[in-house]
Amino acid sequence: MNTDFDVVIVGSGPAGSSTAEHAALGGARVLVLERKKVIGEPVACGEYMPHLDEIKASFPRAEDLDPVFDIPSSLISREIDLIRILSPSAHGFDVPFRGYTTDRDRFDKYLASKAVKAGAVIRTSSQVTSVKEGEVSTRDETYRAKVIVGADGPISKVAMGLGLPRNPEMYPAVTSQAVGDFEPIMEMHFGGLAPGAYAWVLPKKNGANVGVGVAPNFSGGRVGDYFQDFLRMRKLEVKGRPIGKYVPSNGPVSRTFTSSGLLVGDAAGHVMAVNGGGIPIAMICGRIAGRTVADHLKNGVPLSQYEESWRRQIYKPLRTAVHTKMLASLFFGGPRRLEFSMRFLGERRMGNILRCRPSFP
Ligand SMILES: Cc1cc2nc3c(=O)[nH]c(=O)nc-3n(C[C@H](O)[C@H](O)[C@H](O)COP(=O)(O)OP(=O)(O)OC[C@H]3O[C@@H](n4cnc5c(N)ncnc54)[C@H](O)[C@@H]3O)c2cc1C
Repeated sequence: MNTDFDVVIVGSGPAGSSTAEHAALGGARVLVLERKKVIGEPVACGEYMPHLDEIKASFPRAEDLDPVFDIPSSLISREIDLIRILSPSAHGFDVPFRGYTTDRDRFDKYLASKAVKAGAVIRTSSQVTSVKEGEVSTRDETYRAKVIVGADGPISKVAMGLGLPRNPEMYPAVTSQAVGDFEPIMEMHFGGLAPGAYAWVLPKKNGANVGVGVAPNFSGGRVGDYFQDFLRMRKLEVKGRPIGKYVPSNGPVSRTFTSSGLLVGDAAGHVMAVNGGGIPIAMICGRIAGRTVADHLKNGVPLSQYEESWRRQIYKPLRTAVHTKMLASLFFGGPRRLEFSMRFLGERRMGNILRCRPSFP
């Protein structure tokens, strides 16, 4: 039984590395266990990040965001100032929205390097096989820890092991890298080519990240087939095979803590239901989680404070996004209804929706 660490974090995505960095900065002995051989690889992500001013507009109650999103310019692949939302008939609605694409593998490595610099230990090729209160096991070793953090993505083994709720609704999405020249505009395609979600084109320095998500209750086929149809329709050529993963789509789970464990990021359903984006929230909640864990170990502060804190700072916009998505699902059923509702909404209200605000008034 290994007792070298106070905190064991499962997963070295944005949620795990951010939690690790801040727990270590607060003086905790932190271990991160990651099943991948190389952090961030392969990439299963659209690689889009909103600029800080957009994150602040979406999450106005989130505290002190500047240091969290002080991202080196070398991690910006392409600046994107416009989102073009395309209806089933390919009518385009142009919504000004400031963001950029990154290289997600390099982005995750950067966050992991900050955690290591703060004092955390990261072990790759370490798949966690079982979790119970106070104990985490890989095939080779069992760790005893005062706190266990589940930052292990949408299908969380830690949530199951700690008896916490798991994401009740998810949809599959696949992505790949397209070759060619692209305007600096993000495309979001809605309708039959991506039922219940959307297909995207996200320009990068070289080529573009392209992908499709489909909600199982609206689609009759496999996400990979929708992806191939989208490539044909949009005349895209990709290099490499498509990589897929699940996107939580029902907002945060109902409880994210026990007396000695936490869930963060996708494991906690920290995803914007209107667009599937989760990197910024994983980073915001990771910092809250890391600080709470350090405070718990040093001063006995209960871990419930983590949940109080993230709910106060980001829950309202996430809940609004879930409500918007529920409303939208009434229109996903048929292309004519979807076309009508998109024209009715127009650019301004679509901008509100993208920023997790109510579409009305
Ligand atoms: C196709 C697709 C496109 C997306 N595009 C965007 C986008 O453009 N912008 C955006 O903001 N969000 C996007 N998202 C969502 C975003 O990727 C997630 O919200 C984000 O990665 C959440 O970070 P995380 O750290 O919680 O989880 P993850 O990034 O999933 O990290 C979890 C880590 O845990 C590890 N792990 C899992 N189980 C174990 C185990 N048993 N033992 C050890 N390690 C384990 C995994 O290997 C992984 O490294 C997209 C998602 C998908 C599927």
